[in-house]
Amino acid sequence: MLELDLVQLQREGRVALEGEIPSADPLWEKDEVRLTEPVRVRLQAQQVGADVLVRGHITTALELPCRRCLEPVVLRLDEPVTFLFRHGVADWEAVQEEAYPLPERAQELDLRQPVREHLLLARPQFALCAEQCQGLCPHCGANWNQGRCECRVEEQDERWAPLRRLLNRE
Ligand SMILES: [Zn+2]
Ligand SMILES: [Zn+2]
Repeated sequence: MLELDLVQLQREGRVALEGEIPSADPLWEKDEVRLTEPVRVRLQAQQVGADVLVRGHITTALELPCRRCLEPVVLRLDEPVTFLFRHGVADWEAVQEEAYPLPERAQELDLRQPVREHLLLARPQFALCAEQCQGLCPHCGANWNQGRCECRVEEQDERWAPLRRLLNRE
């Protein structure tokens, strides 16, 4: 659970909040994200006038296919986050201000959706298993990191054969 106690926040002005969202949580169900660790959340909430400002860090690890050889690559994510919950604004106004509407008379604030949205925006779109990754053979699909395949012998592309003949006036 990742719920901020707004009553406590009103009383104390600041509240620290720590929690985890499991990697298999239904929260991620519709997203194409493969988490290999729970999402760890450390946040500090503070009352700013009628608004609520939440800042902190989220850390996790996720898996992506290498863009050259398609082998899974695990990437660590350590993201600073800031969520502003604005009092007395409509949903569309909040969106324009990149904020969230603070529900009227709410006793607690669920921070799971903001964490989810931030993670989906912040995650890398591509991964490389190594800078020197050799990728896959475009002909037979062999992984060149595990050795060369036979295909490399016929390096010349047959589609260019007519042009080569023309140039060489064969
Ligand atoms: Zn690779
Ligand atoms: Zn090959």
